[in-house]
Amino acid sequence: MTSSDDTRSSNFIRQVIDEDLAGNKNNGRVATRFPPEPNGYLHIGHAKSIVLNFGIAQDYNGTCNLRFDDTNPHKENDEFVEAIQKDVQWLGYQWHDKVYFASNYFEALYTFALELIDKGLAYVDDLNAEEIREYRGTLKAAGKDSPHRQRSVEENRDLFQRMRAGEFQDGEKVLRAKIDMASPNMNLRDPTLYRIRHGVIHHQTGSEWCIYPMYDFTHPISDALEGITHSICTLEFADHRPLYDWLLDNVSVPCHPQQIEFSRLNLQYTVMSKRKLTQLVDEGHVEGWDDPRMPSIAGLRRRGVPPAALRDFCERIGVTKSDNLVEMGVLEDCIRSDLNTNAPRRMAVLHPLKVVIENYPEGLVEELSVANHPQDDSMGSRTVPFSREVYIDVDDFREEANKKFKRLVAGQEVRLRNAYVIRCDEVIKNQQGDIIELRCAYDPATLGANPEGRKVKGVIHWVSVAHAINAEVRLYDRLFSHPSPDAGKEGREYKDYLNPESLRTLTHCKLEPALRAAGVGEAIQFEREGYFCLDSASAADGAPIFNRTVTLRDTWAKIEQENNS
Ligand code: ATP
Ligand code: MG
Repeated sequence: MTSSDDTRSSNFIRQVIDEDLAGNKNNGRVATRFPPEPNGYLHIGHAKSIVLNFGIAQDYNGTCNLRFDDTNPHKENDEFVEAIQKDVQWLGYQWHDKVYFASNYFEALYTFALELIDKGLAYVDDLNAEEIREYRGTLKAAGKDSPHRQRSVEENRDLFQRMRAGEFQDGEKVLRAKIDMASPNMNLRDPTLYRIRHGVIHHQTGSEWCIYPMYDFTHPISDALEGITHSICTLEFADHRPLYDWLLDNVSVPCHPQQIEFSRLNLQYTVMSKRKLTQLVDEGHVEGWDDPRMPSIAGLRRRGVPPAALRDFCERIGVTKSDNLVEMGVLEDCIRSDLNTNAPRRMAVLHPLKVVIENYPEGLVEELSVANHPQDDSMGSRTVPFSREVYIDVDDFREEANKKFKRLVAGQEVRLRNAYVIRCDEVIKNQQGDIIELRCAYDPATLGANPEGRKVKGVIHWVSVAHAINAEVRLYDRLFSHPSPDAGKEGREYKDYLNPESLRTLTHCKLEPALRAAGVGEAIQFEREGYFCLDSASAADGAPIFNRTVTLRDTWAKIEQENNS
């Protein structure tokens, strides 16, 4: 299986399309759509659907519409409409023509509802929601007909028009399809097509309507009106397909799109339902929809995940009909392989320990030329200042260590990356016994080279004290401590599995001065530490904030091992 952008892996949906094209169905046209409800931000599950729908349109020379499924007025708003467009474009896609809204079809949908009434295929019911539920029956027992099911066409027309005119209260009446109260498929037991909603302001149509069409009625007709050929959705809609087809067979729409279902993406250590993500935001468990720990596209972007890595991920996981729970390691692998190629290297010390090089001339600064990428000369080089005082990471020093520790040990040597070999001569501690400074000596003959016969075990990174940028660094971990927080132990809900250590903030980190030019969101490798990017916000003290996108190696595999043992 390949996963690059130009050699996409095939899948069963593409096979269906290939067959349709071979049979000249739809006159060789391919038209898909991505239909989000604007009641939240998009998440990585939506990315799977976006890559699938827009990817098919690209590869088959077809079109993909962006259509907002906005039939549920009280949860939808323009903030989400804007955010969704931004996210789709950031992922690298452009929708066909204009942005579509299901609400643009409210008048047309109303006319189609009248058509069903005229054909004796829809009726106005006075049962309330609870009664409708009771009458619907169960999977084992057939439902029973509403006492209003036999209303005449004239009466239904009249009542439906008066529903629109606002003569009835919320819940007093609904319009239902007249299909089969004994159908083994519950979706065909006279599903509701319209309900009354007074006093809500729809983000597009304002207070023009007080009746709103249901999703199951709106969706197939919207697809048909837009000339969609393949209406791709997630598996939970498979049982709705007979209703989808029934509606299109019974109203005068220009075409009959084909609904095809695939399994939704589930990702370990996170939740994917918009309802739950909304709760995390509203209850302050995260900083917002774009919190870098969120599985939202906005969160992934802020975390520094490149759009190409997300597309690669969506290709790699494939499209099937089987339920799946994808390991976080798969996503991180896609991110790492993109960033390894594309992220320039910089030096940053996250836990600084000061080193004074006693035999280095005071006041001297050497501007060392350093490659931006070890394997890619086209990324050029930068200068890094070296001086008498540098920071190294606390973890790169030990007073005593065995041979496995290939960093700096008291009395021994180490190479400062891209610079000189130093030897630690003295360890300075405070009254509590903490190491606060090292006194070292450098060998001027070792700049950038490794003279023959000289064995230096380790190379560590460093930053010149006088030139360092002071920064805050945020290290993110999984948001939940359970691989499937939705399916935890009984009596516990997903929020009980929130990981209290999902964010670790390090202050007073020391960065090399070239990082002053970093742009918000641009991927950078902090050598030996991981991939990072500059955040759009600054810390309270004005210091820049860098978010860790991902570590250099797979830490998830280790977590899995721990969990399994
Ligand atoms: P949620 O259940 O999170 O509220 P939704 O399906 O109601 O999601 P929509 O805005 O209606 O959200 O989704 C738009 C499109 O994205 C739909 O076609 C839906 O099938 C698809 N989609 C949503 N979640 C996933 C997922 N986890 N994996 C793949 N596709 C998804
Ligand atoms: Mg939905």
